[in-house]
Amino acid sequence: MTIPGLMQPTPLTLDLVFRRMQETFADGRVIDAEGETTYGQVAERILRLARVLTDELGVRPGDRVATFGFNSIRHFELYFAVPLVGAILHTVNVRLFDEQIAWIINHAEDRVLFVDAELLEQVRGLVAKLSTVERVVRMGAGAGEVLPAVDDHDALVDAAEPHDELPELDENSALGLCYTSGTTGDPKGVLSSHRGMVLHSLAACMADHIGIRESDVVFPVVPMFHAFAWGLPYAAPLTGAELVFHGSDSSPENLGRTIDEHGVTLSAGVPTIWKSLLPALRSGQLDAEALRLVFVGGAASPRPLIEAYDDLGIEYLQVWGMTETGPLACASRPRRRHAGLPRGELLDVRERTGTIFAGLEARITDEHGRPLPRDGAAVGELEVRGPWIASAYFGADADDRFNEGWLRTGDMAYMEPDGMFRIVDRAKDLVKSGGEWISSVELEGHLLAHPEVADAAVIGVPSRRWDERPVAVIVPEDPSAPPTLEQVRDFLLDRVAKWWLPDGLEIVDEIPKTSVGKLDKKVLRRRFDLVLD
Ligand code: ADP
Repeated sequence: MTIPGLMQPTPLTLDLVFRRMQETFADGRVIDAEGETTYGQVAERILRLARVLTDELGVRPGDRVATFGFNSIRHFELYFAVPLVGAILHTVNVRLFDEQIAWIINHAEDRVLFVDAELLEQVRGLVAKLSTVERVVRMGAGAGEVLPAVDDHDALVDAAEPHDELPELDENSALGLCYTSGTTGDPKGVLSSHRGMVLHSLAACMADHIGIRESDVVFPVVPMFHAFAWGLPYAAPLTGAELVFHGSDSSPENLGRTIDEHGVTLSAGVPTIWKSLLPALRSGQLDAEALRLVFVGGAASPRPLIEAYDDLGIEYLQVWGMTETGPLACASRPRRRHAGLPRGELLDVRERTGTIFAGLEARITDEHGRPLPRDGAAVGELEVRGPWIASAYFGADADDRFNEGWLRTGDMAYMEPDGMFRIVDRAKDLVKSGGEWISSVELEGHLLAHPEVADAAVIGVPSRRWDERPVAVIVPEDPSAPPTLEQVRDFLLDRVAKWWLPDGLEIVDEIPKTSVGKLDKKVLRRRFDLVLD
């Protein structure tokens, strides 16, 4: 019931973002690997695509429409057209194994599948396993003969009239579906709501969060198939910032070229991306003159990386989030009390995970789910809640990740009295040694500061005496002269407690990474199946 005189109960739905892009920022550029257009022109195509979805492909409200593609304007069109007709955008991670992809699409019961032309070959081997997909649409030219029964995205859009009667949407209806990478067990689906995504976009724009402005040129390196490219395809048009998509080529050369050519001011990706761009930035081969901010999440950022970007005059902002948190939930901006700190201490602050976004709440709890004090020392599981946090997994039974309205993140953290927190490790990656824990993340950070270490991971290995002990796995800078265990321990000695020093050192050519570029410790643990004394 509405109370007379109360402010308007406008639903927080994606059409608010859409109309702003269409009416207020129509001249903003949207660029991808194939060319350039404007928000105004894209908006027109989105309305045509909406018509294609409802009239040509028979998509009804609540249906799932899957995308299987890299970052592109066509993908961006689907980011809007699908939710605007009341259907659910399901972005499928193209880097998973075929079995996982088929499992996810069947679990989501996707009815239509939009596929990048260059991925059709991969999909060909999959179609027989897909039980609910009725139509496949190819995004981009070429490779048509690989799968004969496909429609062409552009041809459909060009032939359609713009939709002129989009449904009124409920703010608590679903906008998108994204599965976690399934590092343990089956992947789990996270269903985002319109309300959650609109609030997430507004929050991301706040100055102390990411701080996105109309004058920005935003470049999400993070894929559109992973956690909605951290919400940037929605946050950018809301502010009027321009958007750049780079396609399938994530080589440092292509990323660098994209940044330079289009005057990118703000970009986002996992730490390994920013590490890969360092040599070109340092040598001056990559100019990146306009680049003012990179924001970096998905894994903790090593201190040397933060420092390196500081030295280059590019602000490096660490953020935290997960698929279940919408995805952005926290940014590591120093607070008022840190003003004037010397550089080293300020870096300590920026290495922390940060302060939870306005609109969300965070706490840490013990193993029984009881809140722990915010004293900067007690370490417990980080729990979060708020309008863009998952309340359950899609189509799954009750899960112990949900604790009386709070999401248990699986990350272990300590929290200061004013709510700033630092994740010390994922619960499953902490090394439990003699009843105490050792942070693998912190050890990795120190190892990466060693001049002869190019990449590093720390895993807990079973120990007869201590339960678990840390073993360092490193990629040496010079493979012909790798550092010894003694040298590594000496280096770490004045950085960590003595009992944290690794008991073993393994030299590898490469650290295995997951489909989204994180250290794959599961593979490492299997490879180094050791037992220590
Ligand atoms: P997945 O669980 O599929 O790997 P996500 O990409 O959602 O998927 O990963 C979320 C996890 O990434 C968090 O729970 C956390 O462990 C890690 N993470 C993300 N950002 C940070 C950060 N700034 N510091 C430490 N860990 C982070």
